Amino acid sequence: MIEELRNYVKDLGVDLFGVADLTAAHNFILAQGGEHIARFPRAISMGMRLLDPVVDELYRHEEPSALYSYRGLYDSVNANLDRAALLIAKRIQEAGFKAYPIPASQTVNPRKLEGAISHKLAANLAGLGWIGRSCLLITPEYGPRVRLATALTDAPLETGEQLTGGCEDCRECVDICPPKAFTGAPFNPSEPRDVRFRAHLCRDYTQRRANLLGEGICGLCVYVCPHGPTRKGN
Ligand code: SF4
Ligand code: SF4
Repeated sequence: MIEELRNYVKDLGVDLFGVADLTAAHNFILAQGGEHIARFPRAISMGMRLLDPVVDELYRHEEPSALYSYRGLYDSVNANLDRAALLIAKRIQEAGFKAYPIPASQTVNPRKLEGAISHKLAANLAGLGWIGRSCLLITPEYGPRVRLATALTDAPLETGEQLTGGCEDCRECVDICPPKAFTGAPFNPSEPRDVRFRAHLCRDYTQRRANLLGEGICGLCVYVCPHGPTRKGN
C-alpha cells in the first residue's frame, strides 16, 4: 500500500514522501493538538519543493515584485499540498482505515502561533530532514525550500527512521533574520519551540512590512540556508 500511496501523490506533484511513527512524540502531540490529533499512531508527511528562481529573488527584500512572486508560489504550493493531503486521506479511507489531513498552513492556536501538529516534527520523524536553527525542516535534497502537509492515519504503513543532522557552526539564518526571531539555539526535542524561535517577532515584522509594502512575507531564512540547491557552496 505504501508504494501505491507514494506513487499516487508523486503524480500530484509531491516531491518528498515518508511515514512517521508518532509514538515517541505522543505526549508532545497531545499537548499541542489534543486527543483528536494524538489518537493517530502514524503520519504521512509530504513535501513539495519550492522553485529556486523565485526563492533566489528574496534577497530583493524590500521590493514588492519579489515578495508578490514568493507569495504566489507559497500559496499555490500550499494549495497543491492541501489537495494531496485530502486525496491521500480519501484513498486511505477507501482502503478501510482512518485518515485526517492537516493543511499546509493552518494556525489553530493564535496565541502560540501553532498548527494542530508540527508538520516539521512529522517530517523529521519520517526521515525527510532535520530541524535546523531556523526551526525549518532542512532536507538533504532541497534544504528548507519545501512546504509540508501531513495526513494522520491508523493505516499500518511501514515507518521511516528519524533523521538527525545538524547545522554545525552555521548561523546564517540567525544572522539574516531582520527582527532577530531566532535565538541560535540548536533543535532539542525536549525543549519548547520558544527556546529557539520567538514566533511573535516574525509575525510582528511581517505585519509591519505588509502595512508598508502591501505584502509582508519575508522568507530570508528559507533563502539564505546553505543547504538550498542554489546556495550550496556559497
Ligand atoms: S521569515 Fe524572515 S522574519 Fe520570519 S523568521 Fe524567517 S528571516 Fe526571520
Ligand atoms: S541557515 Fe545554517 S543554521 Fe540556519 S538552518 Fe540552515 S544550516 Fe542551519
